[in-house]
Amino acid sequence: MNHNPFEEWLFEDQLTLEERTQLNVHLKECASCRALSAAGLETSRLLSNSAPVSPAAGFTDRWASLATDKEAAEQKKQVRLLFILLASFALLSITSLFLSSYFSDHSIMAVLSNVIFNALHLIERTIIIIQSYRFVLTVLPFRIPYLMWVVVMANAAFWMAFWSLSIWKFSSLKRVFA
Ligand SMILES: [Zn+2]
Repeated sequence: MNHNPFEEWLFEDQLTLEERTQLNVHLKECASCRALSAAGLETSRLLSNSAPVSPAAGFTDRWASLATDKEAAEQKKQVRLLFILLASFALLSITSLFLSSYFSDHSIMAVLSNVIFNALHLIERTIIIIQSYRFVLTVLPFRIPYLMWVVVMANAAFWMAFWSLSIWKFSSLKRVFA
């Protein structure tokens, strides 16, 4: 079947009555041109419906809030990890203090007060560290890569261990010279 000139006429706005009649006759007979006509109508319908090509209002806001939600969740996860690390070190130092008291002739009350004092110090230090980390996170204009976090955590863990150990050493020295 010859589709000329009907294929062009499908997308022609100004057809004579004669041409329009001929086109309608052809469309009744020709499935190919009917499909083309339907596709053309659908395309123009879509184009007129989606007139504003720019994103819908509030899109960038929604995207930004989504991004910050994700970042906040990530930060929470990291702070929790840091807290777990520090808590385990606190537990370790408390356990070591209890063990050292077990093998010494110190009264349990003296050791207990020492442990509470050290634990409070550790908690205070932990809160300060978490607060400063949060502050750094809110001030930084870019996201800290995960590897960087691991390095920072490892450093913090090392210094906390060093600190706990020095407290333990110091308290055992005091015991020796008491
Ligand atoms: Zn045709």
